[in-house]
Amino acid sequence: MDTVITRFPPSPTGYLHIGGARTALFNWLWARKTGGKFVLRIEDTDTVRSTKASVDAIFDSLHWLGIDWDEGPFFQTERYPIYREYIQRLVASGHAYYCSCSPEEVDAMREEAKANGKRPMYNQRCRNLDLGPGENRVVRLKVPNTGSTVVDDIVKGPTSFQNSEIDDFIIQRSDGSPTYNLAVVVDDLTMGINTILRGDDHLVNTPKQILIYRGLGAEPPVFGHVPMVLGNDKARLSKRHGAMSVGEYQKMGILPDAILNYLVRLGWSHGDQEFFTRKELIEKFSLEHLGRSPSMFDMDKLLALNAKHIQAKSNAEIAEALIPFVAEKGITIENTAAVQLAVESLKPRCKTLVEMAEAARFYFVDTLTFDEKAVAKFLKPEIMQPLCECADTMEALALDAFTEPALEEIFKQVMARHDLKFGKLAQPLRVALTGKTVSPGIFEMILALGRDKTVSRIRAVLK
Ligand code: GLU
Repeated sequence: MDTVITRFPPSPTGYLHIGGARTALFNWLWARKTGGKFVLRIEDTDTVRSTKASVDAIFDSLHWLGIDWDEGPFFQTERYPIYREYIQRLVASGHAYYCSCSPEEVDAMREEAKANGKRPMYNQRCRNLDLGPGENRVVRLKVPNTGSTVVDDIVKGPTSFQNSEIDDFIIQRSDGSPTYNLAVVVDDLTMGINTILRGDDHLVNTPKQILIYRGLGAEPPVFGHVPMVLGNDKARLSKRHGAMSVGEYQKMGILPDAILNYLVRLGWSHGDQEFFTRKELIEKFSLEHLGRSPSMFDMDKLLALNAKHIQAKSNAEIAEALIPFVAEKGITIENTAAVQLAVESLKPRCKTLVEMAEAARFYFVDTLTFDEKAVAKFLKPEIMQPLCECADTMEALALDAFTEPALEEIFKQVMARHDLKFGKLAQPLRVALTGKTVSPGIFEMILALGRDKTVSRIRAVLK
């Protein structure tokens, strides 16, 4: 086959939802895997519902996901002259015709067909009248009255539609604008798109689109219609199942790689492998393993996968990603070695960046907030002397001697002098340093906090 050219054609009537992101992903992966091209097209012909804000939101989400495009973005509203030219070709070659029937007349035809127990369709009155352009005239495609149109779908297998059940549908409205199916075909054809992966909600349009290709004497592309994503109640995923937009997942602190990994698995498999890096997805993605049965969106699985992706990333990458989440709490951090150590201590314990920012807060604040119960239980007068000795000996350490073995040695000595078990020293120290009873491992946490903060936090408690 020639160079694979795929596309993603969102309608900018809202944010990028996760079903759309999955479609974009499949097409992008196939282009990247084959060394092909991925085209972005904005289907904005519905000028009432399309907004600039949605276009921007879609771009932002694609950028965030790391789904980049080689051509476009093309905007359908800028391509009307091209659509008109192709409509004229269809008329000239006898594959389309002008129709002067009013919407009311067409409604009446449909009613009549229904009354006669037939499909409610346009009765083709103008089909052979050879009308030219004129006011209030639409252009209709001359759909064959016999035979069938087969969608040779790579996911569902060949799917056949009776031509007699397809209306002579409108391709140009009376105001001269193209209809959806016409614009899609002209775009896909002129943009060289040869592989179309999309949701199976579009399967009903496909025979009509194939008929337009045929009318234009062109080969239709390869089609693959993937099942819709379902919610946990097996109904098509919608708002009532929870977050729908890619942006919401971004705000929840899901990593782009985790959402990509999760979305691709909702419709594609590679044995029973669940975890994929972006690179692996590109290497392993294949059309043969696109699934025929719909999958359910499961938030817990996404979170578990996100936790794995957090662990798989370097401390520096996670520190970078964490910055805006910590900023939400009014705390400014930079991607420093100290922040990376803090991240390292938290990586195994957090499923999202939101959780991590919350858990990391104690590292970065100037004044700790203390859990009163923890203070009452662990910061008793008799522990003050051992804590004081910890602070003194830690302070005496040179910065490059502030290491885990050195901390262990300090602990050993203080524990011996005061006849304390490990927990009896570690837990009060933890409360003094974090304000809470739960934190990463004590030495790891102290090292990430650093000598000076550790000492000054202990001293603040001693006071
Ligand atoms: N603009 C359509 C949508 O957002 C996509 C059409 C297509 O994939 O052919 O659903």
